[in-house]
Amino acid sequence: MHQRITQLDTRLSNQIAAGEVVERPASVVKEMLENSLDAGATRIEVDVEAGGVKLIRVRDDGRGIHKDDLNLALARHATSKIRDQGDLEAIETLGFRGEALASVASISRLNLTANTQEDTSSGWSVQASGADMRMEISPAPHPRGTTVEIRELFFNTPARRKFLRTERTEFLKVEEVVRKVSLSHPGVSFVLSHNGKTTKQYIGDDEAHRVASVFGSAFLESSVFFSQERGGMELRGWIGLPTYSRSQADQQFFFVNGRIIKDRVVTHAVKQGYADVLYHGRNPVYCLFLSINPRLVDVNVHPTKCEVRFRESRDVHDFIFRTIHHVLADVRPEEPVAGEADPRLAGVPGGAVPAQAPISFGGRSGSQGVRDPQMSVYREMFAKDPVAGFPESDDITMPPLGYAVAQLHGIYILSENKTGLILVDMHAAHERITYEHMKTACDAEGIRSQPMLVPLSIVVSVKETDLVDEHGAEFSALGLELERASEESIIVRAVPTLLAKSNVEQLVRDVLSDLSEYGQSARIEQHRDEILSTMACHGSVRANRRLTLPEMNALLRDMEETERSGQCNHGRPTWCEMSLAELDSLFLRGR
Ligand code: ADP
Ligand code: MG
Repeated sequence: MHQRITQLDTRLSNQIAAGEVVERPASVVKEMLENSLDAGATRIEVDVEAGGVKLIRVRDDGRGIHKDDLNLALARHATSKIRDQGDLEAIETLGFRGEALASVASISRLNLTANTQEDTSSGWSVQASGADMRMEISPAPHPRGTTVEIRELFFNTPARRKFLRTERTEFLKVEEVVRKVSLSHPGVSFVLSHNGKTTKQYIGDDEAHRVASVFGSAFLESSVFFSQERGGMELRGWIGLPTYSRSQADQQFFFVNGRIIKDRVVTHAVKQGYADVLYHGRNPVYCLFLSINPRLVDVNVHPTKCEVRFRESRDVHDFIFRTIHHVLADVRPEEPVAGEADPRLAGVPGGAVPAQAPISFGGRSGSQGVRDPQMSVYREMFAKDPVAGFPESDDITMPPLGYAVAQLHGIYILSENKTGLILVDMHAAHERITYEHMKTACDAEGIRSQPMLVPLSIVVSVKETDLVDEHGAEFSALGLELERASEESIIVRAVPTLLAKSNVEQLVRDVLSDLSEYGQSARIEQHRDEILSTMACHGSVRANRRLTLPEMNALLRDMEETERSGQCNHGRPTWCEMSLAELDSLFLRGR
């Protein structure tokens, strides 16, 4: 028997849409916050009861909704944000699909009140309750702005309701949404309360203060701020120092034009930027904002708008990777500024740079690669007088890592600088320096390649043989000579000399899959770096080797000048600092 087709009624199709957009109370909060921000709100209050299942109330001081538009606001495919296809191709608002309110209204009891006037008495309100969309509007006093009240979420979709976790878990998810959204709009105040108690309050302020209140001021202290522009894109934000990494990848926030997104290309690019400085299995912490021409990014690819598609994903990947790689490379010891408050944090409780920061990598000022101009003076001095230890002349400024005083247990160098003492793990530090030197030397010569004694044939996909044809020049630059043998096989004729002994087939497969997924591959560099790193480890001073003071001082100067010297090749810290203030407090001095 033939099944006939019927048109679904509005309520059912709204509920189907809700299935995609509203997974849990936090999804409702996200949509409502986006609406308030699109309406230009400067203050948003979110009241939640019972994890959001009983009540979600979002109140803002934005533009409000015209009385005659209140019904339309609850209708599906009705929006004030786009008009035609041209608008869809250059979205500048957070919302544009015109379905959040309709979807939410179809699975809850919703009350929408708004006022577009300054006069408090001129507000209007409309109700909808699941099946029954009562569309009469009635006068309701309300200050300029909008309040959406959502009660009994999922009351008519019990199956959905069963998927909800405990009240507390649901509320934590709501809180997470507020944290994230608040980061991209630092000028807006957010107040969140649960069961009548205020749990989070972000006062409108600048970006640094907002980041400090969301991540904690310790993050600003252990991260580098940067801003970089290229080819019409701007990447700005805070990246955590490698030593501030976490076991979970849960503190990684990436915004594209103010919208938080999860994107494989972006995540991969950032991760690759950290390659070489992160301890195995650790995850960096970051809060990054990418601004890009809205025409170059498609935001209409996911119902909850948490994914985007870049038109030139390869350029975006390259830009993010290079920027982060470069910023991290420039983190090295700087003139210490003990106890000085970070000017961007004035007024934030606990925002002053703690005098007792246990490990300081000079990231706080956010300046990239500030080099002490005196550095060359020391170099010359040590070159002339190899037995020089701690200098006697007062007029020379002290270098950041100071001058060596002693070697401890054959492992550590004890050094005295202007503000306290420095301890250096000499093997870890030397290993990084040797490694960076080897990489620089290798880069200068280019990647040398050697022919395979027996050319290797590998079966791959059609897409991959196409890649081999398209990217021939890039493969050669990486030291790989590849050739298409048939529709689905390639021949490897030459490989990088340093990698000749590695698993060539695996390497080629990985490079091809990187290329097809991310548009570029850094495998060869990574493998080469792994080998250089091992060689550097063997070539570095071992424990128990006695160093003379000039040798120790030369190592300290090298650290000041070497990229990424704050951590060894495996991402462990190479030095730490203790200020005089910390020593004094240890001995209860000056109290
Ligand atoms: P979208 O945001 O995609 O347009 P929504 O269903 O979320 O779709 O909202 C529908 C319309 O209702 C919006 O286009 C906007 O005009 C209006 N609206 C919703 N919330 C607010 C608000 N807080 N302030 C002002 N207008 C709002
Ligand atoms: Mg919306």
